[in-house]
Amino acid sequence: MSKKIAVIGAGPGGYVAAIRAAQLGAEVTVIERDKPGGTCLNWGCIPSKILKTSAELLENFRRAGEFGLSVENQVRVDLAALMARKRRIVETQGKEILNLLSYKKVRYLEGTARIEGPHRLVAESPDGRSEDMAWDGLILAPGSRPAGVSGLPLDGRKIISSNEALSLQAIPSSILIVGGGVIGCEFAFILAALGAEVIVVEALSRLLPLPSVDEDCSKIIGREMKKMRIKFMVNRIVDRVEEAGGRLRVFIGPSPLAQDLKRKDLSPVEVDVDQVLVCIGRRPNTDGLGLETIGVRLDERGWIVADDRLAVDFPEVYAIGDVLGPQRVMLAHVASVEGQAAAENLMGGNRTVDYSAVPGAIFTMPEVADVGLTETQAREQGLDYRADAVNVRNIGKAQVIGQIVGQAKIVSEAGTGRVLGVHIVGPHATDLIAEGVLAVKTGCTVRDLAETIHAHPTLAEIMVETAYKALDRSVHG
Ligand SMILES: Cc1cc2nc3c(=O)[nH]c(=O)nc-3n(C[C@H](O)[C@H](O)[C@H](O)COP(=O)(O)OP(=O)(O)OC[C@H]3O[C@@H](n4cnc5c(N)ncnc54)[C@H](O)[C@@H]3O)c2cc1C
Repeated sequence: MSKKIAVIGAGPGGYVAAIRAAQLGAEVTVIERDKPGGTCLNWGCIPSKILKTSAELLENFRRAGEFGLSVENQVRVDLAALMARKRRIVETQGKEILNLLSYKKVRYLEGTARIEGPHRLVAESPDGRSEDMAWDGLILAPGSRPAGVSGLPLDGRKIISSNEALSLQAIPSSILIVGGGVIGCEFAFILAALGAEVIVVEALSRLLPLPSVDEDCSKIIGREMKKMRIKFMVNRIVDRVEEAGGRLRVFIGPSPLAQDLKRKDLSPVEVDVDQVLVCIGRRPNTDGLGLETIGVRLDERGWIVADDRLAVDFPEVYAIGDVLGPQRVMLAHVASVEGQAAAENLMGGNRTVDYSAVPGAIFTMPEVADVGLTETQAREQGLDYRADAVNVRNIGKAQVIGQIVGQAKIVSEAGTGRVLGVHIVGPHATDLIAEGVLAVKTGCTVRDLAETIHAHPTLAEIMVETAYKALDRSVHG
């Protein structure tokens, strides 16, 4: 008899895990309380990139004259049409996931799952019916949701999360974004391009303050924000917000997380805006799941604790994706890889996930992408390394497409030339990083990259140019 596997959550972690388990011969049911595709398809990656695509197009239209084009009438934002396009794409993708699951012989059950004890769970459907289910193996993929912050209660109207920002019915004339991390910075560019006056407030000392993001990338993003008239403040936090006369007064003070504050960072600031968008992180969707009935351990912030094989404390139960929290990597492609590994382990495998070569992709304007070590990390690890960067403007294709801002940087081991990290900011950085990921994953050297022939004229040539530079034989770099 085949093994019965239940998967809770049909995001990029859960539905991919379900497909992999079915491919290995399990009888699989995936239970989803909302929509197939999870946060990624409905409230995250895909809708935000649809908005970014329109925002970028609009920016390009504004530069039409540079390309020898004249636009007779002004190009305007039709937000209703933009949102309709977003809905169409998301719905189509959602249906595709359902088709895929059915084709792969995975049962999809709409409902809220709750573990009722060892090898049992209940799924309650939206119409109130409940189904008892026995499982031999269980994969927990319930994901996460936007986190609020004290003094800033999300009301879905004036003080919003990324969920509402992806479904705006009108572009606010002004908006303050709390958090200059990935989601905050992506929205800053989108909303500014669509016509809002944007202010970003970040508690740490730089934009995109993730350890994986190179400091030069943060600087370049800051410069581009200024060009788009996006204001930003670092080392600052929002203390509180007051509503008055239909607007919001935001009180901003020094950040308790900041070190070496300058005098100018200490003085309080007040700004008036139409809306506040809170982008300060995510919370785990673990409440009501019944994890306690089988003793699944949570860390002090409520994220599920799993071992290297993604197994939790109860036999035959695995956890994947966002619900593992920021200790791992909260990205869709990581959730999918973890899902496949967990499914294989449930079916007798012994897989771990290699987190050393995970691409980061940030869809700002320009984009930022990274893999492997930053210079700072290489230094902190005491490695003998070198870092070489080439400007995007040196690449013919960048001039052709009129997008010349940015750089690529390769961090490599001194002596051997082994690629330790790649950091790109510039046009199509999130596509270009794939080569860097392969280089880091397979232990390529800068010589391997330099001797790999790249088509001309393409943006990918920046990898060769940067590799040449790392060999002290720059051509265009
Ligand atoms: C604005 C935004 C932009 C993003 N952009 C990117 C990007 O460009 N690239 C990228 O890689 N990542 C991006 N992410 C992150 C990405 O969306 C997540 O990392 C990814 O969705 C995590 O997948 P998951 O399967 O773990 O969880 P989720 O996608 O959150 O899916 C979990 C699912 O489980 C369901 N669920 C929860 N509890 C239950 C229950 N009890 N019973 C039944 N179902 C349940 C939920 O309804 C949900 O559908 C973005 C996130 C946001 C918010």
